[in-house]
Amino acid sequence: MGSRHVFSRGGGDRVRIDHGEGAVLVDVEGRRYLDAAGGAVVVGVGHGVDEVVQAAAAQASRVAYVHGSAFSSEVLEEYADALAPLLPLEDPRIYPVSGGSEAVESALKMVRAYHLARGEDRDVVIGRRGSYHGNSRGALSVSGRAGLRAPYLPWLTGAEHTTTPYEYRCAFPDTHPHGCGVRHAEALEETIERVGPGRVAAFVAEPVAGAGLGACVPPDDYWPAVTEVCRRHGVLVVADEVMTGFGRTGRWFASEHFGLRPDVLTAGKGTASGYWPLGLAVVSGPVHEVLARAGFVHGFTYSHHVVGAATGLAVLRILQRDGLVEASARQGARLHDALHRHLARVPGIGDVRGRGLLQAVELVADEGTRAPHPRAQRLVERVTEACREQGVIVYPSTGCADGTNGDLLLLGPPLVVSDDEVDQIAAGAARGIHQVLGSAGG
Ligand code: PMP
Repeated sequence: MGSRHVFSRGGGDRVRIDHGEGAVLVDVEGRRYLDAAGGAVVVGVGHGVDEVVQAAAAQASRVAYVHGSAFSSEVLEEYADALAPLLPLEDPRIYPVSGGSEAVESALKMVRAYHLARGEDRDVVIGRRGSYHGNSRGALSVSGRAGLRAPYLPWLTGAEHTTTPYEYRCAFPDTHPHGCGVRHAEALEETIERVGPGRVAAFVAEPVAGAGLGACVPPDDYWPAVTEVCRRHGVLVVADEVMTGFGRTGRWFASEHFGLRPDVLTAGKGTASGYWPLGLAVVSGPVHEVLARAGFVHGFTYSHHVVGAATGLAVLRILQRDGLVEASARQGARLHDALHRHLARVPGIGDVRGRGLLQAVELVADEGTRAPHPRAQRLVERVTEACREQGVIVYPSTGCADGTNGDLLLLGPPLVVSDDEVDQIAAGAARGIHQVLGSAGG
């Protein structure tokens, strides 16, 4: 029995995890699970990596905390210098925070402050329908999941939403797959014009949609067309790489797949692999110059944290030394093929998609019409539990409860996952899905 004093979202007893090693989690009874969720698509270098723990401990014993707006430190500067060449922004300036939502909140303030400093009172950001950017108010405003937003709508202001590239349910089926990227860019431009071009501060989107719609890779013409529209209207491009950053999609940052050079980038999950709550808001040099000149006032108690920087640096060095970004590309392709193979005879599979070690399975009630299962069936929860019984932990995508898509399972194992483990993940997940969909009548 767990403690009743832990505020949890309910839904029964949780498995108590004792420890982890590599891609495996072990519960207090000694049962082993393959962590195909990577926590919450967080863990890149694997569980139980002593090298990271030692780097964090060594920094904490030298000094655990200095106030980030008053002091700098060698470790923070070393981390920023190591990371900068890997980021897809021009002359990047890195603002470390405590997680993804804080990174997105920071980015939203930065884009507004940037325009104000240039004499433009731009007060609207454009996000995409179906997206997820965090649970704090600003991040939820720009998010496009109706189910998550509904209770808080009176508080969610300053954001509009446009279409999102979602190959399986393309908003522009007539042009799909050739030319729909351009149609999405036209839809964005229509949104900008409807709001009033002088009011739009930024367009916020994941280069590969992870959390909301589940590993949706846009067509190649999408980002060039969208970026062109944004540049023409003076709208900053914010790439939310909280889920896709640090090798998750087989490149350091998913922006690289498309030659995307954002003005602002957010990161947060793979950044410190879960060993420290570390997020990043990054701006390009030109954006930074405007902000610095105007005196951008911002900060959290735990921003620029020195133990966070030491942890992030240790993770970065391991990703580089062990070639884990390349491993993500390779093992991602293996996982994608294995899922296709194992799920081929399982009924109710709508789509298997993704890039690198960010893969998703969309479950539907009817493969012909692509109709989702009624929410009342709580399918994604049941499948997640059945997979766990098969020894595989999957990640149900946040907020897939508003009927606009099928139930979504995300797979984002640690980048150190072995060939055997990849095969076991696909086989175990297929058994779990089959068990539930079989009994749901297909
Ligand atoms: N943006 C994206 C793309 C995310 O996937 C998430 C987390 N799922 C967030 C922002 C919010 O991050 P956090 O939960 O660390 O606040």
